[in-house]
Amino acid sequence: MTESGIDALAEDTAADTEGGAVEPLVGDEGPRFACTCSRERVSSMLRSLGRDEIESIIAEQGQVEVGCDFCGAQYRFDPVDAAQVFLQPHAQPPATPNLQ
Ligand SMILES: [Zn+2]
Repeated sequence: MTESGIDALAEDTAADTEGGAVEPLVGDEGPRFACTCSRERVSSMLRSLGRDEIESIIAEQGQVEVGCDFCGAQYRFDPVDAAQVFLQPHAQPPATPNLQ
């Protein structure tokens, strides 16, 4: 897994990739890594960045785009999507005040 997917935030590719959970494959080409990224994983990463950071990105770019370094999947969060990332009560981290 990676924490560096956020590096690709500014990329402007429009790959519409849904459902990144793939089983590792071992075939004629030998073992290769299959990516298990998902929108939920990206949502968790956005939460870890903090709402202020996400809102500043949206203010600049109009949306948040996160690209997976492994499989190249692109996940887009428009302002509504991004707000929901921080609204899901069951998904919020417990007591992680983001004091800056
Ligand atoms: Zn991926």
